[in-house]
Amino acid sequence: MLDTGKYEAVIGLEIHAQLATATKLFCGDATSFGADPNTHVSPITLGHPGTLPKTNAKAIEYAIKMGLACGSNIAEDNYFARKNYFYPDLPKGYQISQHTTPICIGGQVKIKSESGPKNIQLNRIHLEEDAGKSIHDISPTHTLIDLNRAGTPLIEIVTEPCIHSAEDAYIYVTEVRKLVRWLGICDGNMEEGSLRCDANISIRLKGEVQLGTKVEVKNLNSIRNIKKAIEYEIERLIHLKETGGAIIQQTRSFDADNDTTFSIRDKEDANDYRYFPDPDLAPFHLTKEYISAIKAALPSLPNALKENWKIIYGLPEYDIDQLCEHKEEADFYIALTQHTTHYKAAANWIIGPIRAYLNETGKSYQRIYASIPNIITLMEMVEMGQLNFSVASGKVFTAIMLQPQSPIEYATQHNLIQTQSTNEIEKWIEEILTEHPDKVLEYKKGKKGLIGLFMGEIKKKSKGKADPKTTTQLLEKKLS
Ligand code: ADP
Ligand code: MG
Repeated sequence: MLDTGKYEAVIGLEIHAQLATATKLFCGDATSFGADPNTHVSPITLGHPGTLPKTNAKAIEYAIKMGLACGSNIAEDNYFARKNYFYPDLPKGYQISQHTTPICIGGQVKIKSESGPKNIQLNRIHLEEDAGKSIHDISPTHTLIDLNRAGTPLIEIVTEPCIHSAEDAYIYVTEVRKLVRWLGICDGNMEEGSLRCDANISIRLKGEVQLGTKVEVKNLNSIRNIKKAIEYEIERLIHLKETGGAIIQQTRSFDADNDTTFSIRDKEDANDYRYFPDPDLAPFHLTKEYISAIKAALPSLPNALKENWKIIYGLPEYDIDQLCEHKEEADFYIALTQHTTHYKAAANWIIGPIRAYLNETGKSYQRIYASIPNIITLMEMVEMGQLNFSVASGKVFTAIMLQPQSPIEYATQHNLIQTQSTNEIEKWIEEILTEHPDKVLEYKKGKKGLIGLFMGEIKKKSKGKADPKTTTQLLEKKLS
């Protein structure tokens, strides 16, 4: 048995997020995913001699947004540098990146770890262009190259080595994905490669200060794989250490078929990328006014909303977490609560039927804003006991979404309005009890659980129109 308890894992993550700009970082080629290979490739993307790059201002704005959301310092004086290396999918022979002046310095991302809240410290966020894609699995003999992605703007979000478990890494990446989506700067789609992660991992004895030798697992393309890769590496490194093996600095890759990692290369020394400022791109200065304007236009962030909502709406934490997962949903909740004070009911409606409806139809919240007045009326009909929730959220909701119409009219026409009239309910109770004399006997002998059966039968008989509260009262009285 290995003594794993005496070690501490140290993890630092580098997340590449593809910025959701319409065009590339230094030219007008489209960035859209899924186009035919090598169709978004102007001479600038292809790195032809004599072409001149021009910086996309939107990409800079997006990077600043992320920095401000994380509380980073924004560098006012910036330049782009050439990072020189040869790679088939890098047509220029260098990648344009930032070197000594990352646009965002420091900052943090707050996560809800299993052991409580934690701040994951950021080292920096910098801007760089993406490379193209080498495709190894189409031809058995050739590597194919698609340069559509080359030159797409990325931000690289780099943490300090301050994460200590695969679980926290998982939660952190989830939080970053939520944040970039919230800000609208990246679609966060890991399957399409919009978000990719490199995990740096080392181990050390608990209490030790110095960092151990790290390995880097490259290009993890799902949050699950990030967790699996880190779990596997921690165990592998501890095993090596405990059995007297040497830990060498390595770059590794994840094998998703069996949740293991394998070495792609040993990293003896730091590569010499011969960085120098790109002479084709002028350094850029960001004024304080420009940065302040972006800050002022930033949406309320999920953590701030959560604090507010506890006070304004008094919702349970679970509901708040759910509703603050996606900005579109949080905005829709706010829109609903402009028209009703049934805050909890509004939350239930979103988390339940509204979400299910949007999932089924593939519609976005944007498309259902016009239905808010009808949704509010429907919700209040339930609150006032005129409709039972399952009828309202099923039949009536579907109908008013399919064709905008008053839920009151629809429910009346289809005879769905719930009755609190004692006479009518008593009639249904009478009928049900007459149909089940044996059950009534059992109930009277003490099998009180049968009340559920009677309620169910009455609900069926009345087609959901018997108000449950009145029904329970009357039924209990009748049976006693
Ligand atoms: P590199 O030059 O190899 O890319 P950096 O110093 O830029 O290394 O760090 C890259 C990432 O690796 C950062 O997220 C950093 O926190 C993390 N890191 C650095 N050293 C270690 C270590 N010994 N163990 C775990 N993570 C580390
Ligand atoms: Mg690295």
